[in-house]
Amino acid sequence: MTRLIFLGPPGAGKGTQAKNLAEFLQIPHISTGDILRQAIQDQTNLGMQAQSFMDKGELVPDKLVEDMVEERLKQPDAQTGWILDGFPRKVTQAKFLGGLLINLHEGGEKVINLDAPDAVVIKRLLGRGRKDDTEEVIRRRLEIYRDETAPLINYYSDRQQLLTVNGNQSQEEVFSDLKNIIAA
Ligand code: AMP
Repeated sequence: MTRLIFLGPPGAGKGTQAKNLAEFLQIPHISTGDILRQAIQDQTNLGMQAQSFMDKGELVPDKLVEDMVEERLKQPDAQTGWILDGFPRKVTQAKFLGGLLINLHEGGEKVINLDAPDAVVIKRLLGRGRKDDTEEVIRRRLEIYRDETAPLINYYSDRQQLLTVNGNQSQEEVFSDLKNIIAA
């Protein structure tokens, strides 16, 4: 049973790697960013509440994403494992997830920190062309990453759950490191 949380700055390649690894392991890739973007496209209530935060590169309020993740992890396809990508993004969310997994009798989740230097992630994000990839919004997302998300590295390392992979390599090299690290 594989339960993985992907951590790392925006632009480190989390989304691509999480998706490929989930396919390889035949478990769902649960990306909170993807779910929110779909909700915006479908103009659901959730999407309308999330849009203004996302456009600015701010985090969507905890309650919205926490309910979303809880509902998703309860789906039948998530009972044999999952990869979470983009959640948790702050310590309050990590604590919520810890409690939720206890309630669901799930545990043993590992956290993969996909690390890459600022200069590399900025270059990648500017080349990606997503709506929230303007220079100003990118700067704000990196600031939020540093202030809110990076503390999760210590949080999970203190709990002996953290594995680190160098994201500043080719896509193939990162994927190979990921397969090795989860097999170890
Ligand atoms: P991502 O695709 O992971 O880069 O997420 C895109 C945007 O969705 C972020 O900039 C946030 O506005 C929002 N978002 C995604 N996941 C979360 C989360 N766990 N908590 C709050 N906001 C989130």
